[in-house]
Amino acid sequence: MKVAIFSSKTYDQQFLDAANTDHHYELTFFEPRLTATTASLAKDFPVVCVFINDRLDAEALEILAAQGTQLVALRSAGFNNVDLAKAAELGLTVVRVPAYSPYSVAEHTVGMILMLNRKLYRAYNRVRDDNFSLEGLLGFDLHNCPVGIVGTGKIGQCFAQIMKGFGCQLLAYDPYPNTACMELGVTYVALADLIAQSKIISLHCPLMPETHHIINAETLAVFQPGTMLINTSRGGLIDTPAVIDAIKSGQVGYLGIDVYEQEENLFFEDLSDTVIQDDHFQLLQSFPNVLITAHQAFFTRNALENIANTTLNNIAEFAAGRPCVNQVKLA
Ligand code: NAD
Repeated sequence: MKVAIFSSKTYDQQFLDAANTDHHYELTFFEPRLTATTASLAKDFPVVCVFINDRLDAEALEILAAQGTQLVALRSAGFNNVDLAKAAELGLTVVRVPAYSPYSVAEHTVGMILMLNRKLYRAYNRVRDDNFSLEGLLGFDLHNCPVGIVGTGKIGQCFAQIMKGFGCQLLAYDPYPNTACMELGVTYVALADLIAQSKIISLHCPLMPETHHIINAETLAVFQPGTMLINTSRGGLIDTPAVIDAIKSGQVGYLGIDVYEQEENLFFEDLSDTVIQDDHFQLLQSFPNVLITAHQAFFTRNALENIANTTLNNIAEFAAGRPCVNQVKLA
């Protein structure tokens, strides 16, 4: 079975090659993102394997289907980059990796909170410069701090578990409350109440039409002044110009993002020699209370092993003509 792997980096090749010793598929690694422009690379490949910033819109899917592709194997949990209706119409099967390590993302989220609260990025640079002043490094205790979790699925639950260890007061909003979270002591409230009561708000819901810009000018207006907002889920959950205004007004006191609405033009590439054209991104970078990481929350050895193994097992199910438990279907 020939598999075209798009958006591939050295680490993808390393972990997929290792997992492939059990399968012996013919893996071809392509560096470019899969879009309608690059889809021709997948000619005669029955399987394409893609990541979060590959764009499988109607145009790209039509090209793939016409060239003989039958299976789209996502190396991610999120599938907001695939036009599922079009894939179904074309008879393309879509599979994903629903869980590879919720711990990796939850732990990175907590790392961002500590970094922003205790200003570790400034402290590290200061001490290296023999500046031992504490001015400007004041933080707050996480103990007793009200923390709002939007989305308490696998990652939100891990995050709740860790924050309980800090002694935080845990609030959550999720249309489908999680009993394991309730047993941890999480209190479910309406989104408006979570926003109004939390000092830290962390987003862990998927990007869907209902959650697009869930953080917008209207919801930001209800934030407590100085609230910390963390997004390790998907960039489209936050209206970027609105959050920039809220940082300027002080309504948002800290912003930590591992994902960004326009990240497909930036993340996963070394652009250090380039003039970045995205003014919103550049403005965010200029603020002292903003921490940006480039979609690395998932990036642990454990997660990459699980992604590679599940992806190749998904392909094996498809190749054997068996129904795949990880198939993504239209709701
Ligand atoms: P999950 O499906 O286990 O949980 C998602 C939760 O969100 C569910 O409990 C669901 O009921 C809830 N939800 C649905 N609609 C909601 C709404 N309108 N408001 C609030 N909650 C809502 O998913 P997960 O594994 O916990 O992953 C969560 C998200 O994290 C993914 O969708 C993905 O976008 C993101 N993610 C990011 C990275 C990264 O590296 N930064 C890695 C993996 C996943």
